[in-house]
Amino acid sequence: MTHNPNKLKELAALLAPYDIEIISSGTLNLPEPEENGTSFAENAAIKAVFAAKASGLPALADDSGLEVAALGGEPGIYSARFAKDGDYMQAMSAINTRLEGNPDRGANFTCALAVAWPDGDTELFVGKVFGTLCWPPMGEHGFGYDPFFVPDGYNESFGVLGAEIKEKISHRSRAFAQFITNCF
Ligand code: IMP
Repeated sequence: MTHNPNKLKELAALLAPYDIEIISSGTLNLPEPEENGTSFAENAAIKAVFAAKASGLPALADDSGLEVAALGGEPGIYSARFAKDGDYMQAMSAINTRLEGNPDRGANFTCALAVAWPDGDTELFVGKVFGTLCWPPMGEHGFGYDPFFVPDGYNESFGVLGAEIKEKISHRSRAFAQFITNCF
């Protein structure tokens, strides 16, 4: 499980209907492994395997981020690190500046969800949601790049749409739905 309280909240809501007790890696005081993979999938597996080995429990970890089509998929796996000191306004502004004059404002969020069992077995599920980047950012809901991202089929950002809609269509809930289908 994640150290990120926002992701934990979303994952806990997705897990709520199932009879599973979840414990965050923060609660177990597990250290964070170095995320030195080169893809969302690799990083999710690194985190899940590390947590399963350290805790002796089945572990679920996600690695996710924003991929901007016109920027070749950046910031991608560097999405969190791209927001220096957690300053997402600055991160969104930097991306927006690089897109100025470019009609292609397409982007997607990707979530790789890895499940690792203490015996070393792992499974991986990937979810995506596509949309466009708005400027200025809209809304206060969610976290990270949510105010910057308008999912396809909507006219408002995740920052405006809020948790109920995000839970139906987000990259995380799509990856999660595959996990439920395959593991329950
Ligand atoms: P991770 O914790 O290394 O997986 O980093 C994920 C980062 O990607 C977050 O800190 C955000 O910057 C971005 N991100 C991932 N999912 C979302 C989302 O649902 N909304 C907004 N930003 C997200």
